[in-house]
Amino acid sequence: MLLGAIADDLTGATDLALTLSREGMRTVQVVGVPPVGFDYGDAEAVVLALKSRTIPAAEAVAMSLQALERLQQVGARQIIFKYCSTFDSTPEGNIGPVTQALLASLGEELTIVCPAFPTNGRTIYRGHLFVGDMPLSESPMKDHPLTPMTDSSLVRLMQAQTTLPVGLVTLDTVTRGPQAIREAFAKAKAAGTKVLVIDAISDDDLRSIGAAVDDMKLITGGSGIAIGLPENFRKQQELTPRQGHADFDAPAGRAIMLAGSCSKATRGQIQAAIEAGTPTFKIDPLAINAGTLTPAQAIEWADQITGAVPLIYSSADPEIVRAAQAKLGRDRAGELVEHFLGSVATALRDKGFTRFLVAGGETSGAVVGALGVSALFIGPEIDPGVPWTRSLGDAKPVALALKSGNFGADDFFSKAWRLLK
Ligand code: ADP
Repeated sequence: MLLGAIADDLTGATDLALTLSREGMRTVQVVGVPPVGFDYGDAEAVVLALKSRTIPAAEAVAMSLQALERLQQVGARQIIFKYCSTFDSTPEGNIGPVTQALLASLGEELTIVCPAFPTNGRTIYRGHLFVGDMPLSESPMKDHPLTPMTDSSLVRLMQAQTTLPVGLVTLDTVTRGPQAIREAFAKAKAAGTKVLVIDAISDDDLRSIGAAVDDMKLITGGSGIAIGLPENFRKQQELTPRQGHADFDAPAGRAIMLAGSCSKATRGQIQAAIEAGTPTFKIDPLAINAGTLTPAQAIEWADQITGAVPLIYSSADPEIVRAAQAKLGRDRAGELVEHFLGSVATALRDKGFTRFLVAGGETSGAVVGALGVSALFIGPEIDPGVPWTRSLGDAKPVALALKSGNFGADDFFSKAWRLLK
């Protein structure tokens, strides 16, 4: 085991695992903190998927430190703390507190903050995070139900979440290559900076940064930051040449789509699915709370659909989400939906459904938790950052496509099902 990663949500973990496997590392993804002695097979990289993005900061820190301990027990030499490429967090955290705790526990002096993911339009310039052509604070992330992002300055965002001094390495340094980046690290260290936001607008930038952090024990960022890391191990001839992927065979059985993401991309995908004639069942937290909508109704509905993959969704426009949150509270509204979709998933599995497409990071965490899935084999990529996966170590394996809200093109759903045929 060379590389260990701690991801703050499930879809982000999958995205990272996919990046590492694409770059030539045998990668296993585990859901949650595994027990001591867990068998990772011959994995060169292990990604632990926590659900720590929006829980209280102290709990996120405790969970992340436990994950770190497990990864150290199996020999991880470098640790990635992976969060969302849109830096999903609040002033309380959890990116700052977790980074600070991991740094202290590793006895390290410096780490980087680099959520850039150019393939998906996330770039960092002069410390400001862009989503496509827009600054983060003007992007649809400003309306996120749990972590609305209203500032684009990563230095400011990070500094609000940590007592460690935060600095910046700008693109002009990054484009001068790994040596220039290392020099910037040395300068920052001498100045007492502990956390460095680092610009990146292309995969080449990420590869330069990757080469420059070869001796850094802790790296923080989005899945993009992993692009340049396997090469360091390959250079040291520690990476076994890739064996080639085993064929991905999805278990036979019925299929369902569950969407709890209210992100713009997911809403577009739902619209496209409706236009393509997909049978849909809309749920909303107010009806669940009032007891006028129960999982049994959705289960019964899905069970009688034939000849198409049904879609159950709670996704709604920002003003509808805000209205529900005003009545129920943000967390309660989210929990009602997540619990509902988790119950639907387990009941449908018992009825012979084996293929699940889930939209939403938190939502995916809830569904996977309800299904009791603990480890995933990474399969073919549907759209950038989202693979099909198969549960490992289960008596009744299921195929899972776990999509982070903002990922995927409008035809993501139909593309996903075509891949399994
Ligand atoms: P994304 O990946 O797009 O961020 P998540 O699943 O991580 O999606 O987060 C969406 C959150 O919004 C979840 O907690 C979900 O339960 C909640 N949610 C979904 N639909 C609604 C709704 N109609 N009203 C309020 N909250 C909702």
